[in-house]
Amino acid sequence: MIVIMEPKALEAEIDKVIQRAEELGFQAIINKGAIQTVVALIGDETKISGSDLFEELPGVHRVERIQVPFRLASRSTQYADSVIEIAPGVKIGGQEDLLVMAGPCSVETEDGIIQTARAVKAAGAKVLRGGAFKPRTAPRTFEGLGELGLRFLKQAKQETGLPIVTEIMDLRDLDSIYDTTDIFQVGARNMQNFSMLNELGKVKKPILLKRGMSATIDEWLLAAERIMHNGNSQIILCERGIRSFDAKYTRNVLDLAAISVVKNLTHLPIISDPSHGTGKTLYVRSMALASVAAGAHGLMIEVHPDPANALSDGPQSLNPKQFNELMPEIKQLHSFMKDLHARKEATNVA
Ligand code: PEP
Ligand code: MN
Repeated sequence: MIVIMEPKALEAEIDKVIQRAEELGFQAIINKGAIQTVVALIGDETKISGSDLFEELPGVHRVERIQVPFRLASRSTQYADSVIEIAPGVKIGGQEDLLVMAGPCSVETEDGIIQTARAVKAAGAKVLRGGAFKPRTAPRTFEGLGELGLRFLKQAKQETGLPIVTEIMDLRDLDSIYDTTDIFQVGARNMQNFSMLNELGKVKKPILLKRGMSATIDEWLLAAERIMHNGNSQIILCERGIRSFDAKYTRNVLDLAAISVVKNLTHLPIISDPSHGTGKTLYVRSMALASVAAGAHGLMIEVHPDPANALSDGPQSLNPKQFNELMPEIKQLHSFMKDLHARKEATNVA
C-alpha cells in the first residue's frame, strides 16, 4: 500500500502515518520527493479491511492498494487453475474441455423442458439451464413456475442425465433448490446480495456467479471471495454483459476483455453468456465464438423450442436447430485456439 501525502503535509502528519503503519504491523518506507512525500507500507494488506485507516489521517492526499483485496480467489494465492466437478465426469476450468450450459430462460412446461434437454444434449451441451424462480423487472410478468419448475427440471435430469443449473432468488428456497440442482446460479441482480452469498458459502455445491450489470471486476471477484470466505470454493464466474450508454442495438455490452482480465486475476473458471450479453438471437453466435477466442472455459446459451412464444427472453434465445448448428463451430474454434496457444507456448520455450 502506498500513502501519498499532501504537498503541504507537516512532519507531524507524516509521523502519524508511520506510527499507524507500525501499529498495524507494516514496515514504513519514506520517500521524500521535491514536492510530496510518499510512504510505502510493506506487509500483508489483506489483514486490514480498507485504505480508510490511512485516508482519514490529516495530511494524506491519496492511498493506493497494491495487493488485490480478494485473497482466496487470487492467482497469487493459488496459481494453478481451479477445476470444478459439477457432476461425475462433468468438469470445468483449466485444460478441461469447453463446457456448454444450455436451455430455456424459464422452465415453462414439462414437455418443453424435456424436449429442450434432449435437443441440447444431442448437440453436445453438458449442463441444462432453466429458471424456476425468475427475476423480472416488471411485476405482472411471468416469474417462473417455482416449485413446479424444479420438479420439471428434475424430470428432465432423470430423462437425460444432464446436470442442472438454476437460479436462487430467495434463501427460503435454498433447500428445495438444493434438492434439484447441481449448480446454484446467482443472478446478476443478486451478485451483491451479501446474506445470500454468505449462505451459499456454506453449501456443498458449485455456484455460478453472474457479474452484476454494473459491477466492477473487483466487486465481482469480492463477491466470489465472500462465498469462498464462508467455505465454498467451487465458483464458476459468468460474464453476462454490463450496462453502458448505448442500449439501442444490444441489451448489454458483453465485456469480452473481462474474460482475459479475470483469467489473469483469478484461478476460478469463467464462462460467458452471449444471450444476456447481447439480448438478440442475431448476435449470440458471433459473441459465443468471440468468447471462446477470448478464452472462456464455457458458455451459457438460452435455447427455447419456440422462441417467438417464450414466456421470457425469447428475443435472445436460439431454437434447437440454431444451437445444433452453432455447437460444432464452437468446438472447432475451441480446438483451433488450443492448438494456437500450444504453438505459441512452444515458440516461447524454444
Ligand atoms: C438468466 O440467466 O436467465 C438471468 C436472469 O440472467 P442474469 O441474472 O444474467 O440477468
Ligand atoms: Mn434469461
